[in-house]
Amino acid sequence: MGVSVVTFIGIGSNLEDPKRQVLTAFGELAAVPGSAVRARSSLYRTPPMGPSEQPDYVNAVVELITRLPPHELLVELQRIEQAHGRIRGARWGPRTLDLDLLIFGQEKIDNDTLQVPHPGLAQRAFVIVPLAEIAPHVEIPGLPNAATLEKQLSTTALSQLQRIL
Ligand code: AMP
Repeated sequence: MGVSVVTFIGIGSNLEDPKRQVLTAFGELAAVPGSAVRARSSLYRTPPMGPSEQPDYVNAVVELITRLPPHELLVELQRIEQAHGRIRGARWGPRTLDLDLLIFGQEKIDNDTLQVPHPGLAQRAFVIVPLAEIAPHVEIPGLPNAATLEKQLSTTALSQLQRIL
Protein backbone atom coordinates (compact mmCIF):
# COMPACT_ATOMS: atom_id res chain seq x y z
CA MET A 1 0.00 0.00 0.00
CA GLY A 2 1.21 3.49 -0.81
CA VAL A 3 0.95 6.91 0.76
CA SER A 4 -2.32 8.25 2.10
CA VAL A 5 -4.62 9.92 -0.39
CA VAL A 6 -7.70 12.05 0.29
CA THR A 7 -10.75 10.64 -1.48
CA PHE A 8 -14.46 11.40 -1.52
CA ILE A 9 -17.16 8.76 -1.82
CA GLY A 10 -20.74 9.51 -2.88
CA ILE A 11 -23.44 7.40 -1.23
CA GLY A 12 -27.00 6.89 -2.46
CA SER A 13 -29.90 4.61 -1.58
CA ASN A 14 -33.61 4.54 -2.35
CA LEU A 15 -34.74 1.09 -1.20
CA GLU A 16 -35.22 -0.78 2.07
CA ASP A 17 -34.93 2.04 4.60
CA PRO A 18 -32.48 4.28 2.69
CA LYS A 19 -31.48 6.27 5.77
CA ARG A 20 -30.37 3.09 7.53
CA GLN A 21 -28.52 1.91 4.39
CA VAL A 22 -26.51 5.15 4.30
CA LEU A 23 -25.73 5.14 8.03
CA THR A 24 -24.56 1.53 7.79
CA ALA A 25 -22.38 2.43 4.80
CA PHE A 26 -20.59 5.08 6.91
CA GLY A 27 -19.44 2.33 9.26
CA GLU A 28 -18.50 -0.04 6.45
CA LEU A 29 -16.41 2.64 4.74
CA ALA A 30 -14.59 3.26 8.02
CA ALA A 31 -13.70 -0.44 8.07
CA VAL A 32 -12.15 -0.52 4.57
CA PRO A 33 -8.54 -1.79 4.90
CA GLY A 34 -5.88 0.91 5.01
CA SER A 35 -8.53 3.61 5.22
CA ALA A 36 -10.19 6.01 7.67
CA VAL A 37 -13.25 8.26 7.48
CA ARG A 38 -12.20 11.87 8.10
CA ALA A 39 -15.57 13.58 7.55
CA ARG A 40 -19.13 12.73 6.65
CA SER A 41 -21.86 15.02 5.39
CA SER A 42 -25.45 15.36 6.50
CA LEU A 43 -28.01 13.07 4.89
CA TYR A 44 -30.14 14.63 2.13
CA ARG A 45 -33.42 13.47 0.67
CA THR A 46 -33.40 14.01 -3.10
CA PRO A 47 -35.75 13.25 -6.01
CA PRO A 48 -34.68 10.37 -8.29
CA MET A 49 -32.54 11.10 -11.33
CA GLY A 50 -33.79 9.38 -14.50
CA PRO A 51 -36.94 7.23 -14.17
CA SER A 52 -39.21 9.20 -11.78
CA GLU A 53 -41.55 6.35 -10.76
CA GLN A 54 -39.18 5.22 -8.01
CA PRO A 55 -38.75 6.31 -4.38
CA ASP A 56 -36.74 9.40 -3.37
CA TYR A 57 -33.06 8.88 -2.62
CA VAL A 58 -31.05 9.53 0.50
CA ASN A 59 -27.58 10.85 -0.40
CA ALA A 60 -24.42 11.72 1.51
CA VAL A 61 -20.67 12.14 0.92
CA VAL A 62 -17.77 10.74 2.96
CA GLU A 63 -14.17 11.97 3.02
CA LEU A 64 -12.03 8.84 3.18
CA ILE A 65 -8.27 8.79 3.67
CA THR A 66 -6.87 5.65 2.08
CA ARG A 67 -3.63 3.88 1.31
CA LEU A 68 -5.36 1.68 -1.28
CA PRO A 69 -4.79 2.29 -4.98
CA PRO A 70 -7.94 3.48 -6.80
CA HIS A 71 -8.91 0.15 -8.35
CA GLU A 72 -8.59 -1.67 -5.05
CA LEU A 73 -10.75 0.98 -3.42
CA LEU A 74 -13.36 0.48 -6.17
CA VAL A 75 -13.35 -3.28 -5.46
CA GLU A 76 -13.98 -2.53 -1.77
CA LEU A 77 -16.85 -0.18 -2.67
CA GLN A 78 -18.42 -2.86 -4.88
CA ARG A 79 -18.06 -5.44 -2.12
CA ILE A 80 -19.98 -3.13 0.24
CA GLU A 81 -22.67 -2.52 -2.39
CA GLN A 82 -23.11 -6.25 -2.82
CA ALA A 83 -23.36 -6.79 0.94
CA HIS A 84 -26.36 -4.45 0.86
CA GLY A 85 -28.06 -6.79 -1.57
CA ARG A 86 -27.77 -4.50 -4.50
CA ILE A 87 -29.11 -6.01 -7.67
CA ARG A 88 -27.96 -4.26 -10.82
CA GLY A 89 -31.11 -3.49 -12.77
CA ALA A 90 -32.09 -0.65 -15.03
CA ARG A 91 -29.66 2.22 -15.51
CA TRP A 92 -30.53 4.83 -12.89
CA GLY A 93 -33.11 2.38 -11.50
CA PRO A 94 -33.72 1.89 -7.76
CA ARG A 95 -30.91 0.48 -5.63
CA THR A 96 -30.31 -0.39 -2.00
CA LEU A 97 -26.84 1.13 -2.05
CA ASP A 98 -24.75 2.95 -4.65
CA LEU A 99 -21.19 4.01 -3.86
CA ASP A 100 -19.34 6.27 -6.30
CA LEU A 101 -15.67 7.16 -6.16
CA LEU A 102 -15.99 10.91 -6.73
CA ILE A 103 -12.44 12.20 -6.21
CA PHE A 104 -9.14 10.38 -5.67
CA GLY A 105 -6.56 12.97 -4.62
CA GLN A 106 -5.41 14.95 -7.62
CA GLU A 107 -5.61 11.95 -9.96
CA LYS A 108 -7.44 11.89 -13.26
CA ILE A 109 -8.41 8.35 -14.24
CA ASP A 110 -10.24 7.33 -17.40
CA ASN A 111 -10.36 3.65 -18.28
CA ASP A 112 -12.96 0.90 -18.79
CA THR A 113 -13.70 0.40 -15.10
CA LEU A 114 -13.01 3.77 -13.54
CA GLN A 115 -13.53 7.43 -14.36
CA VAL A 116 -12.32 9.88 -11.72
CA PRO A 117 -13.32 12.59 -10.98
CA HIS A 118 -16.72 10.96 -11.37
CA PRO A 119 -18.30 12.22 -14.64
CA GLY A 120 -21.58 13.24 -12.96
CA LEU A 121 -19.92 15.28 -10.25
CA ALA A 122 -20.10 18.70 -11.90
CA GLN A 123 -23.87 18.64 -12.50
CA ARG A 124 -25.43 16.67 -9.67
CA ALA A 125 -26.81 18.72 -6.78
CA PHE A 126 -27.06 15.57 -4.61
CA VAL A 127 -23.27 15.19 -4.90
CA ILE A 128 -22.19 18.84 -4.90
CA VAL A 129 -24.20 20.00 -1.87
CA PRO A 130 -22.93 17.32 0.57
CA LEU A 131 -19.41 17.66 -0.85
CA ALA A 132 -19.48 21.45 -0.38
CA GLU A 133 -20.73 20.90 3.17
CA ILE A 134 -17.63 18.92 4.24
CA ALA A 135 -14.98 20.14 1.75
CA PRO A 136 -15.93 23.46 0.12
CA HIS A 137 -12.37 24.26 -0.95
CA VAL A 138 -11.18 20.83 -2.06
CA GLU A 139 -9.38 20.91 -5.40
CA ILE A 140 -11.15 18.78 -8.00
CA PRO A 141 -8.96 17.97 -11.04
CA GLY A 142 -10.34 19.79 -14.08
CA LEU A 143 -13.21 21.43 -12.19
CA PRO A 144 -13.90 24.42 -9.94
CA ASN A 145 -14.04 23.65 -6.20
CA ALA A 146 -17.22 22.39 -4.55
CA ALA A 147 -18.26 25.81 -3.18
CA THR A 148 -18.09 27.27 -6.68
CA LEU A 149 -19.98 24.32 -8.20
CA GLU A 150 -22.66 24.81 -5.55
CA LYS A 151 -23.06 28.50 -6.47
CA GLN A 152 -23.61 27.42 -10.07
CA LEU A 153 -26.57 25.16 -9.18
CA SER A 154 -30.03 26.46 -10.05
CA THR A 155 -32.39 27.43 -7.25
CA THR A 156 -34.73 24.71 -8.55
CA ALA A 157 -32.04 22.05 -8.18
CA LEU A 158 -31.15 23.31 -4.71
CA SER A 159 -34.79 23.46 -3.57
CA GLN A 160 -35.23 19.75 -4.31
CA LEU A 161 -32.63 18.77 -1.70
CA GLN A 162 -33.89 18.37 1.82
CA ARG A 163 -31.46 17.93 4.69
CA ILE A 164 -32.86 15.17 6.90
CA LEU A 165 -30.12 14.24 9.36
P1 AMP B 1 -23.37 2.00 -11.34
O1 AMP B 1 -24.17 0.80 -11.71
O2 AMP B 1 -23.96 3.29 -11.79
O3 AMP B 1 -22.98 2.02 -9.89
O4 AMP B 1 -22.01 1.87 -12.13
C1 AMP B 1 -21.07 0.92 -11.76
C2 AMP B 1 -19.98 0.83 -12.80
O5 AMP B 1 -19.38 2.10 -12.99
C3 AMP B 1 -18.88 -0.12 -12.35
O6 AMP B 1 -18.80 -1.16 -13.28
C4 AMP B 1 -17.62 0.72 -12.32
O7 AMP B 1 -16.55 0.02 -12.93
C5 AMP B 1 -17.98 1.95 -13.12
N1 AMP B 1 -17.33 3.17 -12.65
C6 AMP B 1 -16.61 4.01 -13.42
N2 AMP B 1 -16.15 5.05 -12.72
C7 AMP B 1 -16.60 4.90 -11.45
C8 AMP B 1 -16.45 5.66 -10.26
N3 AMP B 1 -15.75 6.81 -10.24
N4 AMP B 1 -17.05 5.19 -9.13
C9 AMP B 1 -17.78 4.05 -9.16
N5 AMP B 1 -17.96 3.28 -10.25
C10 AMP B 1 -17.37 3.69 -11.39
